[in-house]
Amino acid sequence: MSITSNLLKIKDGLPENVDLVAVSKTKSTEEIMEAYKAGQRIFGENKIQEMSEKWAVLPKDIKWHMIGHVQRNKVKYMADFVDLVHGVDSLKLIQELDKQAKGSDRKIRCLLQISIAEEETKFGLSEEELWTIIHSDPRTQFANIQIVGLMGMATYTDNEQQLRTEFSYLRTLYGKLQSAMDGISILSMGMSSDYRLAIENGSNMVRIGSSIFGDR
Ligand SMILES: *Cc1c(COP(=O)(O)O)cnc(C)c1O
Repeated sequence: MSITSNLLKIKDGLPENVDLVAVSKTKSTEEIMEAYKAGQRIFGENKIQEMSEKWAVLPKDIKWHMIGHVQRNKVKYMADFVDLVHGVDSLKLIQELDKQAKGSDRKIRCLLQISIAEEETKFGLSEEELWTIIHSDPRTQFANIQIVGLMGMATYTDNEQQLRTEFSYLRTLYGKLQSAMDGISILSMGMSSDYRLAIENGSNMVRIGSSIFGDR
């Protein structure tokens, strides 16, 4: 199967309201260009350096999403161009994103990453930490970032019931956040192995790598 046919098949099966992030980490610019020529415009990377190297040489209408854990000292390298940062998990990171966005004269869109998996190695905020951030009124304090939704990574398991529980927990939290503030419209959950279940449980943005580009 080629990248083009994988991509078109996945896109075909997605509901209209669900955006596809093609996760291109470790993949070459040639492979990314094949997906681009097939119509894909949103690409996800998990390392800032790799993303900025690709951004420099690839078409400028690509929307680059930072989906990995963000190191604060590297934010400056993506502030000029990043379209959406999925893994925002602290007030300190929000501060740095705001500062660098201001320096680049931009507004950077962010998702707050929530810890939903049982594995402790996965990053993310607890519900309590989420509300602490929201109650600190980030919109007034940080004029150059825009919080637009939530992101989560489920446990790596094929236990469907567990996946449903984790995804629906995040969907509920997303609903509460929508009631608490305006402009919340993105719920990023689901990867190659679990995106159908994620969509059934309310996801409107899926991050798919290996099912498009092959194994890494
Ligand atoms: C790598 C990665 C993905 C994509 O994983 P696949 O299993 O290749 O689809 C999605 N989200 C995050 C945060 C990732 O790091």
